[in-house]
Amino acid sequence: MYLKSLELIGFKSFGKKTELEFNTPVAAVVGPNGSGKSNISEAMRFVLGEQSMKSLRSKKTEDLIYNGGSSDGRANRASVKLVFDNAKRLFDLDFDEVLVERAVYRDGSSEYKINGSQVRLRDVWELLSQANIGASGHHIISQGEADKILSSSIKDRRTIIEDALGLKIYQYKRAESERKLAKTEGNIEKVESLRREISPHIRFLKKQVEKIEKSQEMKRELSTLYEEYLYRESIYIKEASKRVEEAKKGPASRYSELERKLTEAKTILESAKSKDDKSDELISLERKLSEIRSRKDELSRKQGLIEGEISGLKRFVQKQKEREEREGNQSVPLSQVQSLITSFRRSVEDALIKDSVEAFRQSIVEVKGIFDTFLKKYSETGGEQGSVVSEHKEEIKRLEEQGENFIKELSEIKGEENELVASYNRLRSDIETEKDSSRDAERAIFSIMSEQNDVRSLLKDLSYEEDSIKMAKEAFDNELKEGSVLIGREIVRYEEGKLSTQNGGTLSFEDVMSEDRAIQKEREKSIEKIKIKLEDSGLSGSEEIMKEYKETTERDEFLEKELIDLRSSAESLKNLIGELEVRIDSEFKAGLSKINKEFQNLFSLMFGGGQASLVVIKEESRRRKIETEGIVLDDEEPQIEEEEEAKIGIDIKVSLPRKNTKGLMMLSGGERALTSIALLFAMSQVKPPPFLILDETDAALDEANSKKYADMIENLSKYSQLIVITHNRETMSRAGIIYGVTMDRSGLSKLLSIAFDKAVEVAK
Ligand code: ATP
Repeated sequence: MYLKSLELIGFKSFGKKTELEFNTPVAAVVGPNGSGKSNISEAMRFVLGEQSMKSLRSKKTEDLIYNGGSSDGRANRASVKLVFDNAKRLFDLDFDEVLVERAVYRDGSSEYKINGSQVRLRDVWELLSQANIGASGHHIISQGEADKILSSSIKDRRTIIEDALGLKIYQYKRAESERKLAKTEGNIEKVESLRREISPHIRFLKKQVEKIEKSQEMKRELSTLYEEYLYRESIYIKEASKRVEEAKKGPASRYSELERKLTEAKTILESAKSKDDKSDELISLERKLSEIRSRKDELSRKQGLIEGEISGLKRFVQKQKEREEREGNQSVPLSQVQSLITSFRRSVEDALIKDSVEAFRQSIVEVKGIFDTFLKKYSETGGEQGSVVSEHKEEIKRLEEQGENFIKELSEIKGEENELVASYNRLRSDIETEKDSSRDAERAIFSIMSEQNDVRSLLKDLSYEEDSIKMAKEAFDNELKEGSVLIGREIVRYEEGKLSTQNGGTLSFEDVMSEDRAIQKEREKSIEKIKIKLEDSGLSGSEEIMKEYKETTERDEFLEKELIDLRSSAESLKNLIGELEVRIDSEFKAGLSKINKEFQNLFSLMFGGGQASLVVIKEESRRRKIETEGIVLDDEEPQIEEEEEAKIGIDIKVSLPRKNTKGLMMLSGGERALTSIALLFAMSQVKPPPFLILDETDAALDEANSKKYADMIENLSKYSQLIVITHNRETMSRAGIIYGVTMDRSGLSKLLSIAFDKAVEVAK
C-alpha cells in the first residue's frame, strides 16, 4: 500500500481541514448526493497536478477554493496534501514518506511542494510518472466517466493505454528531448547564421593579418639587416673618425709650423721694404756730404784768398814801410781824408746857419777840434798810426783773424764730413746686407707656400673624408630614428655586438674597416627597399587588427565548437528520441498484448463469454493543433503545433456472447459500463498503478454484475490500493474503511469514519 493519507484544506466544499487515511487496500467513500464525495476524487486529481479546469469541474482557479457557507467565511487558499509510503522506494527519493502538496490562491497563482520544498509542476509530473501515476488520470475514474475509454478517440485511447502501461515517463522524455532538439536545431541555425555573418569579416581580417604578418616578417628581416648595418657603421664611424683625427695631427701641426715660418719670412721680407728709406737716407747723406764739401771748398778758397790778400797786404806794408822810411812821408788813407772833409763840410754848413756869433764860434771850435784830432792821430803814432800802413796792418790782422775763423770752421766741417762719410759707409753696407736676407726670405716664402699648398691639399682631402664621416654619422643617427619607429627597441640590438663573421669568429674592427664600403652601401640599399615596402604596406593600427582578428576567430572557433557540440547533442537527442520511440513502441506492443489477454478474460467473466480486444489502427495523415492538456511539460509552451503522419490509435473490438452485436455502438449502457470496467481492470492488472479511484463506476450495474464488480475490486486490490466512491452496498462490503461524507446546512462537507452497517444508511 502506497497511499497513506489525503488532507484537504479549503478545497471546494471542504472548507475545514479534513484528512482521510488509507491504511486498507480498499477504502470506500459514501454519502448522499451533493455532499462532496466527488470533491475528494477531484482533490486527488488536483494534487497530482491536473491542469484541465474541466476535469476539476471548474471554470477558474477560484472555483477550487472554499467559497464559504452560511456559517463561515470563504477561504483564500485551497490546498491538498497527499502522503505516499515510500518505504519500498516507489519514488526515486531517499525518504520513507513522500508528501506531494499543491495549493492555489484567489489571484490564480499556485504552488507545488514535494516533501515541503517548493518545486515546479514538471517536477511533480516527473516524480509521479516514476510510479506510473500518469497525467491522463486513467487511475482516477470520475463519476460518469466509467465508459470514457470507450468514447474517447483512438488516439486518446492510445494515450490512456500508454499511460496505464507506464510509458508516460518515456513520452515525457521524448517530448522533452524533442523540445530540446527543436531548441538545439534553432540554436544551430542561429550559430550557423552568426558564423555566416562573421565569415566575410574574418576573411577581410585574415587578409589584413596576412599583410601584417608579412610586414612583421619584413620587420624581422629589417631588424637583422639593421643589426649588421648599424654595428658595422658604428665601428666604421668611430674608427674612421679616429683615423682621420690621427691623420690630421701631423699635417695640421706642420701647417702651423709652416704658417709660423711664413710669418717669419714675411717679416723678413717686410723689413726689406725699409731699404728704400735707407736709400733715401743714403742720398740725403750724399747730398749733405756734397754740401759740406762745397762749403769746405768755399772756405778753403776763401781762406786761400785771405791768405793771398794778407800776403799782398804784408808785401804792400813792407814796401810802404820801406818807402816811408826812405821818404819820411806818412801816407794817410784816402778814406780818412774823405771822412775829415765830410766832417769839416758838415760843421761849416752847420756854422753858417747859426744865428748868433756864439753859436757860430762854437761851430768853428768844433771844426778846429776835428782837425786837431786828425793831426794828433797821425802825429802821435810815430807817423804810422792812422796811416795806410797801419790801416793795412789792421786789415791784415782782421784778415788773419778771419782766416783763423775759416780754419776753425774748416776743421769743424772736416769733422762733420768725416762723420757723414762714416754714416754713409755704414748705411751702404747695411743696405747691401739687407738685400741678401730679403732674397733668402723670398726663396723661403716660395718654398713654404709650396709645401703649404701640399699640406693644405692633404688637409682638404682629410676634411672631405671628415665631412663624409660626418654625413655617415648623420645618416646613422637618422637610421636609428627611423628604425626605432619601424622596429622599436630592437634597433639598439646592434650595441650588444653579437655579430660574427662568416667563419663564426667575432667581427673585429679590422674586418669592418677592411671591407669595401660598397658592400655597406648595398646593405643600406636593402634596408631602404624594405622600408619602402613597409611604408607601402601602410598598415596602421595593426595591433587592433590583430586583436580583432584574434577575438573574431576565437569567437568563430567558439561558435564552431558550439556548433559541433550542438550538432552532437542534436544527434544524441535524435538517438535518444529514436531509442525512446523504439522502447515505447516495443513496450506498448508487449503491454497491449498483455492487456488484451486480461481484457478478454475479464470480458468473458463479465459477459459469460464473447470476444474483446484492443486493435492498433492507423489514422489518416493530417495537420492539426493538439491540446497539450495533461501533458504540459513546459509552462511557457501550453500548446504545440504538430504534424502527425499516420498516427497510430487504438480501436476496441467487442463481440457479445450469444448476441450478434459487434462494435461499441451497439452496446447498452450497462454493457458499456461492464466493458469499460473490464478494460480498466485489465489495464490495471497488467501494470498496476499504486492506487485507483473509482467514483461511482459501479452506478450502472445490476445486482449480479455488482457482485462480479466487487469480486474484481477485491482481486484488483491485491495490486493497487483502491478508493471507491459508491452507493453500492456490495462494493462497500469489500472496503476496509468507509468514510461517510455529509454536508451540513451551511454547505461545508464533513467527513467521518463509519461502520459498514451505518454506511448503507449514510450512503442514502
Ligand atoms: P453526488 O453523489 O450527487 O455525485 P457528491 O457527493 O459527489 O454528489 P460533489 O459533487 O462532490 O457531491 O459536491 C458538490 C458540492 O460541492 C455542491 O454542493 C457544491 O455546492 C459544493 N461545492 C463545489 N465547489 C464549492 C466551493 N468552491 N465552495 C463550497 N462548496 C462547493
